[in-house]
Amino acid sequence: MNTHADVIIVGAGPVGLLTAVALAQEKISVLVLEADAVISNAPRAAVYFPSTLAVLDELGMLEDVAAQSVKGISFATRVPEFNFISEIRHEVMRGITYDYQLHCGQDEIAKIAMRHAEALGVEVRFNNKVTDLQQSPSGVTLTVETPEGSSDLRGSWVIGADGARSTVRRLLGQTFDGHTWENRFVATNVYCDFTKHGYCPANIIADPLDAGVVMAIDKKGLWRVTYQEDASFPAETHRDRIPGRYANILPPGEPYEIVSSNPYTIHQRAASSFRVGRTFLAGDSAHATNPLGGLGLTGGIWDGMILADLIAAVMRNEAKDEVFDRWAAERRRVFWEVASAGASENKRMVEEKDLAKRKIDMENMRATAENPELSRLMMLYPFRLIGDVIRPDSRWADADPTGRIGLDFSERRSQFL
Ligand SMILES: Cc1cc2nc3c(=O)[nH]c(=O)nc-3n(C[C@H](O)[C@H](O)[C@H](O)COP(=O)(O)OP(=O)(O)OC[C@H]3O[C@@H](n4cnc5c(N)ncnc54)[C@H](O)[C@@H]3O)c2cc1C
Repeated sequence: MNTHADVIIVGAGPVGLLTAVALAQEKISVLVLEADAVISNAPRAAVYFPSTLAVLDELGMLEDVAAQSVKGISFATRVPEFNFISEIRHEVMRGITYDYQLHCGQDEIAKIAMRHAEALGVEVRFNNKVTDLQQSPSGVTLTVETPEGSSDLRGSWVIGADGARSTVRRLLGQTFDGHTWENRFVATNVYCDFTKHGYCPANIIADPLDAGVVMAIDKKGLWRVTYQEDASFPAETHRDRIPGRYANILPPGEPYEIVSSNPYTIHQRAASSFRVGRTFLAGDSAHATNPLGGLGLTGGIWDGMILADLIAAVMRNEAKDEVFDRWAAERRRVFWEVASAGASENKRMVEEKDLAKRKIDMENMRATAENPELSRLMMLYPFRLIGDVIRPDSRWADADPTGRIGLDFSERRSQFL
């Protein structure tokens, strides 16, 4: 059994496994360590925008993910109290980028990424929990607990992709700065025919009491319904409250079957630094956001893609080690200025209680849906998560279409010139 790899990735979530694929395609040896026995199927991310499709396509995974997914061609915002629906359509992206989004559980993305990574020689070890980390100028030693006992593994670099409660972040002595919301999210996977009730595959519900999200997540009729509840209710009894909440969403007597559910504490937080020595933080271990607008994993994937590219460049002596500091600072900026700012505004909007503000929000949504330029700007927002630290000869240099159509939010991408 190998005890050394160029890069050891802690965490077999979607960020860890997609990053493993990107590194392995650069011919870098990668070992992935996962504390759990299997890939988690907890109901979390479900929608993948064109900025993520660009990654899946480049990694050669798009076809496999599409085969498991529902294709969405629009995003609706619904305000039930006013019978208001605005639908922004991906057709405004035609000729610029992908004119659709894909819907499936993030466990499907992780499973497909694992298959691709293993085909490239990546080893994924389950039941391997990282408990300690020591760094030297030449590498990182991880202590790992397994059912067979504890052992040490050494990597030239380590990527902590071990989620919001990251052990790697704690072992690096990093704080997780920001705030935790007073309400929690409850995500449910449910069989129910929402199309019958006029829902398109992707819907945000704006309502002072019943704000949430309704998404189709597979071709067999599985949907995701996510809503907020007061965090003063005990999380462990959240299932008892599901029928009451569904009574507000569905007409009386409408049958539905809950398949799984999970309560989530939600945050706007980021690690004090995304890099310490030869260890990096990517995905939720580096930053956590509320899920409204689907920017958490969407941004985390780019942490990993750009980092993989930079590690490969440094290993080939095409870039200097200091580039990692620029990566770390830029990924943190992108989180606060794009992901967290966007998700926080989405959260305000869906749960807004002030009637005057709600009316302005509805007017803005109507205007956005009716104007292709505004619709396009909104649909292109996730591309801002790519940030500015991209090498001109990187495979990601042209991933963001905004520069090509003259939008200024990618003009700062000049860090390497
Ligand atoms: C209800 C909900 C809906 C969401 N919807 C969206 C969406 O539509 N779009 C979007 O972009 N984002 C969404 N998100 C956010 C998304 O789920 C996260 O951003 C995503 O899970 C981050 O992936 P990750 O790989 O960084 O971490 P994780 O998925 O948390 O994976 C971390 C892995 O590390 C493992 N691990 C932990 N500690 C150790 C250790 N010590 N040793 C080894 N392994 C360890 C864990 O077991 C886990 O498998 C949503 C989140 C929630 C809660």
